[in-house]
Amino acid sequence: MLTVRGVEKRFGDEPVLKGVDLEVAKGDVVVVIGPSGSGKTTLLRCLNFLEHADAGELNFEGETFNLASISRKDVLRIRRRTAFVFQNYNLFLNKTALENITEPLITARGFSKKDAEEKGRALLERVGLSDRADNYPSELSGGQQQRVAIARALGGSPDIIYFDEPTSALDPELTESVLATIRSLAAEGMTMIVVTHEIGFAESVATKALFLEAGRVVEFADADTFFRHPKEARTRAFLETFR
Ligand code: ADP
Repeated sequence: MLTVRGVEKRFGDEPVLKGVDLEVAKGDVVVVIGPSGSGKTTLLRCLNFLEHADAGELNFEGETFNLASISRKDVLRIRRRTAFVFQNYNLFLNKTALENITEPLITARGFSKKDAEEKGRALLERVGLSDRADNYPSELSGGQQQRVAIARALGGSPDIIYFDEPTSALDPELTESVLATIRSLAAEGMTMIVVTHEIGFAESVATKALFLEAGRVVEFADADTFFRHPKEARTRAFLETFR
């Protein structure tokens, strides 16, 4: 579904991604792990054009694009089939949970208000928040806000969802509800790339894992190999710190 080759990104003089390759098949859950500052968030943002990569090639469902020179039109075309879940939810604070989901359906996807509301309520139910439709973000816990953000992401029926450390802003007791939601999406076969610090969760949900360090891929392997028999000593040492 998605192949990227040679992704490079620098901020000023500092190279942050130094030639990253990645392959994602339909139904894969690829977890991206690595030390803080290794470039995980930047990689994810480059894949969805929230950052402009300096080099690299992206093949999305059979079409190849140059990341450094992709047109605005192609960016918008790809973004219609992807969704991004942010660390800090990025909800509209002056809209209710339901409106946060229906607004993009109406403005960007041509839904009628009635159809959008029907879909919005079904999505809220899917993330366990059917009783929160009329609440504003300030009336919801962080975990509930993130689940609204996930429901909004699902609204566009994306082919792939990118999660950027979806629980990093949450207290431990709120983290589990979000992880459970992502697990249920994995069980339904949703294709996802998840940047996470939650190693136990990563191991439980991943089909593939990528270890990034200082902007380079140290190891990219199927989950069983990666977590049980990593080939690289650096991967082993990193995983050991969580065990
Ligand atoms: P990770 O997600 O692995 O913690 P990031 O991708 O957030 O790492 O950051 C990688 C490096 O890029 C860090 O050194 C960070 O300070 C730097 N960086 C990230 N975003 C920016 C930015 N917008 N401007 C300048 N430097 C940035």
